Amino acid sequence: MHEMGIVQSILSASVEAAEKEGATKINEIRISVGDLTEIVEFALQFAFEALSPGTIAEGGTLTVNHVGASARCADCSTEFEHGRFEVQCPQCGSIATIPLTGRELTIDAIDIDEDESPDEESANPE
Ligand SMILES: [Zn+2]
Repeated sequence: MHEMGIVQSILSASVEAAEKEGATKINEIRISVGDLTEIVEFALQFAFEALSPGTIAEGGTLTVNHVGASARCADCSTEFEHGRFEVQCPQCGSIATIPLTGRELTIDAIDIDEDESPDEESANPE
């Protein structure tokens, strides 16, 4: 299943980022998924349930923000939302369009429990 690999990547990136912050637990991982990615939320949740046990994200939740598809007309610069299969400018009818959103797959935020000093911004020595 495609989603298994996606969740595996999301999990390892989140765990790595959280542990850098001194987290002991991940409460929530929020991601954005574009409507054009073919990713099925049910499959993401299934994969999260299967893969998170044994990590600090165990018992946490995966929250999926769906991002609709939109594009900009290459001829008249109108920006518009569109469905999955029809991409046509509602203003001038052109089919020459530049994709704007709909292909996202990003981690937006990770809600963590920190070990200590939760109100102290951790300095990031680099
Ligand atoms: Zn147009």
